[in-house]
Amino acid sequence: MTNFHDFGLTDAITRALTEEKYLTPTPIQAQTIPTVMSGRDVIGIAQTGTGKTAAFALPILHHLAANPRPRLRKSCRVLVISPTRELSGQILDNFHIYGRHLRISAALTIGGVPMGKQVRSLADGVDILVATPGRLLDLVKGNALRLGEVECLVLDEADRMLDMGFIHDIRKIVTKLPANRQTLMFSATMPRAIAELAAQMLRDPVKVAVTPTATTVERVDQRLIRVDRAAKPGVLVDVLRGEAIDRALVFTRTKHGADKVVRGLVRAGIAAEAIHGNKSQGQRERVLAAFRKGEVRTLVATDIAARGIDVDGVSHVVNFDLPDVPETYVHRIGRTARAGAEGIAISLCDGDELALVRDIEKLIRLSIPVTDRRAHPRRSESPGVNRPRSQPPKHRQSRRGNGRRGRQPRHQAKEARPADTRGGIASVGFLRRQASDGADQARHVVGSINHSEGS
Ligand code: AMP
Repeated sequence: MTNFHDFGLTDAITRALTEEKYLTPTPIQAQTIPTVMSGRDVIGIAQTGTGKTAAFALPILHHLAANPRPRLRKSCRVLVISPTRELSGQILDNFHIYGRHLRISAALTIGGVPMGKQVRSLADGVDILVATPGRLLDLVKGNALRLGEVECLVLDEADRMLDMGFIHDIRKIVTKLPANRQTLMFSATMPRAIAELAAQMLRDPVKVAVTPTATTVERVDQRLIRVDRAAKPGVLVDVLRGEAIDRALVFTRTKHGADKVVRGLVRAGIAAEAIHGNKSQGQRERVLAAFRKGEVRTLVATDIAARGIDVDGVSHVVNFDLPDVPETYVHRIGRTARAGAEGIAISLCDGDELALVRDIEKLIRLSIPVTDRRAHPRRSESPGVNRPRSQPPKHRQSRRGNGRRGRQPRHQAKEARPADTRGGIASVGFLRRQASDGADQARHVVGSINHSEGS
């Protein structure tokens, strides 16, 4: 499909897409939209930035428009569950944008804000409910919401739900849903626990997969600056002053680190805000709005907080700390270079992080050009130096315990590693083949996933 008109979506939707200047469906949209419209369950392997929200939102809106039904009190026809408040808000915004010419009601129920308004918004029933898992269960337990009328369930960022410990909640929610619903599950990666969940929840699903990672990595201008650990804050200031920045997303390992970086930048006269899990919902929304409008050009975030942020026009991603998991690097730099735009990713690397750089280079099959800003550089330590670009670097066979920090890897690192590798650069050939072969090929791939309800 090269045109949104080819899908047979109702005119009210294609009109909204034209207004939004969506001309061509993205690969995940081309694969998913017809499948969802045919009523099949879908398991989609796709990250944020691939257009996956429209991939499920458009056919869902079409279904609601084509099959109008009176609303039932405390009920919803479509339930979308996402792991973070930000992502949930963005999904709802997208439903509003694409459905702006339809008479469809949608509500948001997320944690961190009082429940009363959300209870009232559900009283007369809604067509679409977008929710985070914890709050959703609270509303069900409090008899503010019944799930027996759900025709379509969407689970977005399923792997992140696993990382954040929501899988138990999801299982509970699923037991309250009708068995004859349609289910769409999206995940950036496919760890075993998610594949098992899919086998229990989905009925003969069609598997669709896209890997933005290769194209993203190729499009981003990546640089590495070797620094002494203590000099990182100063080098960050230099980087932000020295670049023509539209919007910069700076990643730190911890929430505390994010706050510290912001304080340093503000002291140096650079307006910056932090976004992470310790911030209230109101604070996060205010900061994100300021970043979107360009009032604050530097946002400092942890990986979890950044996951749901959907902001176009991020010109720079700066890794103040390098991530433990190499795939996370690819996710981070994918925040720039969105929708075909080019972006710049700059990583500050201290001596403790060299092994992480090697793992990243191995994954992306590129050596990242290095600038040395250390006080006393020792040439042999520099990753990438003297290697021509685009050649796979040489690596150790084993990565563990070699040059890593003395800490335990985080939970996320442990859970995500095997499957992330499958969904990452290493598997581009397989996934591309699958994407081009279309749905039938994809169906074959999931032939072994059986439906068995009642988790
Ligand atoms: P998502 O992966 O759903 O977070 O989408 C990433 C970004 O791409 C969002 O800003 C969307 O508005 C935008 N987008 C999605 N689909 C298209 C399309 N077909 N053409 C242009 N932009 C799109």
